[in-house]
Amino acid sequence: MIRFFTNTLLFVLLVLQLNAQTRTEIQIPDISGYLTLKCDFHIHTVFSDGAVWPTIRVKEAWEQGLDAIAITDHIEYRPHLDDIKSDHNRSYEIAKPLADYNGIILIRGTEITREMPPGHLNALFIKDANLIERDDWFEACREAKNQGAFVFWNHPGWKAQQPEKTLWWNEHTRLLDAKILDGIEAYNEYEYYPEALKWAQEKGLTLLANSDVHDPINNLYDLTKSHRPVTLVFATERNAESIKNALEKKRTAMYFENKLVGDRDFLAPIFNASVKILTENVGLENKQRKLIQIHNHSDVDFILKSNQNPIGYNYRRDVVLKAHKTSVIEINGTMEKIKNQPKLKLEYEVTNLIVAPDKCLQVVWEINN
Ligand code: ZN
Repeated sequence: MIRFFTNTLLFVLLVLQLNAQTRTEIQIPDISGYLTLKCDFHIHTVFSDGAVWPTIRVKEAWEQGLDAIAITDHIEYRPHLDDIKSDHNRSYEIAKPLADYNGIILIRGTEITREMPPGHLNALFIKDANLIERDDWFEACREAKNQGAFVFWNHPGWKAQQPEKTLWWNEHTRLLDAKILDGIEAYNEYEYYPEALKWAQEKGLTLLANSDVHDPINNLYDLTKSHRPVTLVFATERNAESIKNALEKKRTAMYFENKLVGDRDFLAPIFNASVKILTENVGLENKQRKLIQIHNHSDVDFILKSNQNPIGYNYRRDVVLKAHKTSVIEINGTMEKIKNQPKLKLEYEVTNLIVAPDKCLQVVWEINN
């Protein structure tokens, strides 16, 4: 009888604990043909130099609206090894059942941790991390690749390893030539490396933005104001295989702070799927002021700037389309003939949607007058 009550109590406590968890979705829309999956591919636990148990990483990911994570404990750096004795696959194995239970896609990964060059590299979709423990860094990378891994260079501009300048080394060319290097982390924790964006575009590398979290995630980001950096993966399905395919085909973008960085082919559809012009007909005449209402149902505040001088009308040059709000753009007629003009063209650049170094997304709206 006592055991029955104890079991019931435990069950009730477990259910209460689960019910106390809530998930906040990251509101960045899907685009035509692809799901926009939110992923963090660089995470540590106590099984290397992190401060938390692997299951906590799954819980954090679920609460923060992620679809997929990779736990990437260091192969070569394990300061807790005297207390936590295990092989390199253990953090994945511990996290996997909870990930399955919560619907989080857990990708088996590891971090090859070397001095610069080549620095730190993450290998995702590996089969056995133990086999990647090698004396020679190139052999470690080759073993990961032989296991079918997707390999990317972590925090290429990390000051501890690149104090003067963010350099591309011969070792990276060697990895690239051997078809081992697939991607580059152009954003890590709080740091953005514009050089990496340039290299990604020049050398055909996949862009990634990850947290590299070691502490509990709440210690790193104030989630009431911000979010962890995520790699947006444009996948055909919500599973590991589709994610791997998308990474290999460079179908990613980076979402960090209030910015999106990636190819125009992805950022333009995200922007278009996020905003909706509510005003169907402006009806603008000379010396009149009208408002165009625009709703943004994404998490991103879109920061718009225009330097256009259209003939016959003016419109606001600086506009912020606030996340989950309806904003207005004021437009006024300056010529008599404007009332007969069927369309009004509004041209902006979205300054926080970055498609190349020093280049942001251009948008053009044609609205019925
Ligand atoms: Zn790391």
